[in-house]
Amino acid sequence: MQHIAILGSTGSIGTQALEVIAAHQDKFSVTALAAYHNDILLEKQIEYFRPQIAVLVDQEAADRLVRRYSGPTRILTGEEGLIAAATHVAVTTVLTSLVGFAGLKPTIAAIEAGKNIALANKETLVAAGELVTQLAKEKNVKILPVDSEHSAIFQCLQGENSKNINRILLTASGGPFRGLKTEALQNITVEDCLRHPNWSMGKKITVDSSTLANKGLEVIEARWLFGVEYSQIEVVVHPQSIVHSMVEFIDGSVIAQLGKPDMRVPIQYALTYPARVATDYPRLDFKALSELTFSPPDKITFPILQLAFDAGYTGGTMPCVFNAANEEAVYAFLEGKLRYLDIFTVIHSVMQSHSLVAAPNLNEIYHTDVVARSKAKEILRAIRE
Ligand code: MG
Repeated sequence: MQHIAILGSTGSIGTQALEVIAAHQDKFSVTALAAYHNDILLEKQIEYFRPQIAVLVDQEAADRLVRRYSGPTRILTGEEGLIAAATHVAVTTVLTSLVGFAGLKPTIAAIEAGKNIALANKETLVAAGELVTQLAKEKNVKILPVDSEHSAIFQCLQGENSKNINRILLTASGGPFRGLKTEALQNITVEDCLRHPNWSMGKKITVDSSTLANKGLEVIEARWLFGVEYSQIEVVVHPQSIVHSMVEFIDGSVIAQLGKPDMRVPIQYALTYPARVATDYPRLDFKALSELTFSPPDKITFPILQLAFDAGYTGGTMPCVFNAANEEAVYAFLEGKLRYLDIFTVIHSVMQSHSLVAAPNLNEIYHTDVVARSKAKEILRAIRE
């Protein structure tokens, strides 16, 4: 029996994970659930899964729930609540599906407490990949990828020696604006971004997918998960989202993982690994697949992907800066306070102004995140004036 804590239980990954868990109640129990502020949905989840603790990070949302709820689940709040959920003594695996840098601290706490991590919060490895993977090794804790591409690569590597990897071929749908040129992206709105062709996801990651920032974050995530160099990671645009990624080995063989785009599959694999468990999800019908196409990404029109590679090659605190600036710019865009193309401008300027720390400790990472966000806000103000 796996005892699961889900950080981010009301989001896209969290709700799909609960669907997986509900279908296999002989294999899983839910020990802790944590969400940011959706008290209505969290209450329903508490009633169905009866966790020992439930957390609403937002104090007002927690107060609302406490006033209504009188069952046995303990309701906690704030960052302390997240840490309590991540480190609860009964928990065996923590699914980290919080959005953004906020996922770092509870993930570290979970690793310190010896919990296996089903990692959906890619920003954790982007901001502090070296420290997090090192700590996981020390604590003998597994980091199991939930991101579909990384789950694919992880599956391709089963039974393989990672020393034999020649290249990782990270596939990208190309997002809703694939094929467009910069000129056509001038007046892109939030609604335009939220029409993603293949995957249904949260708002922040949907904007990131449209700018290819998401693929950039995934490149950095792959570097740390699989211990490869950036020069070994190649992004390949594959609009059908059927091949979820591939690994080329030193002998020239390429192994790919394919499937319908359905996040429940990689979520389940992370939770049941190394076992595979039967599902009744829709299957690929190869007779009905008309074509699978592959092409290089357009880094001129979508320059944020190149910024991510630059941040990765620079190393140290730079990937943390890339992530912080991107988060601030995307939230400003979602609030209608920044033009689409200026998401790049903000990230680029914040990266240029950063004084690099080559081998940061955790405090330096937290400090870098704060400084990069305040610099991003300063640039956002300057752009608006
Ligand atoms: Mg992905």
